[in-house]
Amino acid sequence: MDRAVASTLSGLALPSGAWFYPGGGWLAPRDYARELLARSGSRFRGGTDVATIERHSGLWRVLDEQRQVIAEAPVLVLANGLGANGLLASGRGEVPWPLTAVRGQISSLATDGHPATLPCPRLPVAGGGYVLPQTGGRLLFGATSQPDDIDPALRDADHRLNLQQLAGLSGGDVEAWSSLPWQGRVGWRAVTSDRLPLIGAVPDLEALDRTSRADQPRFVPRQRDARGGLYVFTGLGSRGITWAALGGQLLASWISGAPCPLEADLRDALDPARYALPRWRSDS
Ligand SMILES: Cc1cc2nc3c(=O)[nH]c(=O)nc-3n(C[C@H](O)[C@H](O)[C@H](O)COP(=O)(O)OP(=O)(O)OC[C@H]3O[C@@H](n4cnc5c(N)ncnc54)[C@H](O)[C@@H]3O)c2cc1C
Repeated sequence: MDRAVASTLSGLALPSGAWFYPGGGWLAPRDYARELLARSGSRFRGGTDVATIERHSGLWRVLDEQRQVIAEAPVLVLANGLGANGLLASGRGEVPWPLTAVRGQISSLATDGHPATLPCPRLPVAGGGYVLPQTGGRLLFGATSQPDDIDPALRDADHRLNLQQLAGLSGGDVEAWSSLPWQGRVGWRAVTSDRLPLIGAVPDLEALDRTSRADQPRFVPRQRDARGGLYVFTGLGSRGITWAALGGQLLASWISGAPCPLEADLRDALDPARYALPRWRSDS
């Protein structure tokens, strides 16, 4: 859409034209997770830290710090973001892929009392940063992106960066908003070196030898057998909410043998075994 149409539709004075995604939207990640869990009918147990994983009598076990078994099953999926590598290392000692933490801070401002000065869009608007329609009396916008930054504290400088992004999207004035009281949240994205997720069966590096084919990740041996196996679902970077549903279908097809929802080369591109190949080649 050209700038005039995009500005009318979004309710912001956009600096340029824009793509419009009629099926797009926004959601609260926690509500989304709750809804998916409820729909799946699965039993959820939260608030428990897994310290170690191990394979025992054909089952995968998760254990707490006291080495008490929390649960065991034929199939185990490590879907715990940046914690996946630590658990994998606890089970087999070797992690074949890089996973780094990229810090992100989002900001929010109360719209009550300031509606005239704040740019409240009718639709989510994304470009250099993003801003959502106001919800619960707050305007949410962001976000920053800082690799290898483990500081959990909210930072004024990051809030200012978010204000600048908001101004870039809406043509507003940072100085007019900078005295307003703000809230924020800090989180970390789990990012791979090729910026693609890791979804699939964990490779068996010990079984990877000179007789294994190395031209495609799909030929790499895995830590699984006819009963079950070890799978991973992480490295979702800045798109985990966007990718979660399709990634879930892909993972289900890995585990159950159901038809794959993606074409083969895209499945390979997300296959965690892709990181095993170059190293194996250089070791050969
Ligand atoms: C500021 C910011 C803005 C973002 N905006 C967007 C966006 O607009 N759209 C989008 O699609 N994505 C966005 N993302 C990315 C998105 O949040 C992530 O990709 C997504 O949350 C990844 O989901 P996950 O379940 O793999 O990991 P996480 O959300 O990190 O969840 C992993 C969970 O595992 C738990 N865990 C870890 N280790 C253990 C253990 N040993 N035992 C028990 N539990 C454990 C953790 O406590 C955590 O609850 C954003 C991220 C940030 C930081």
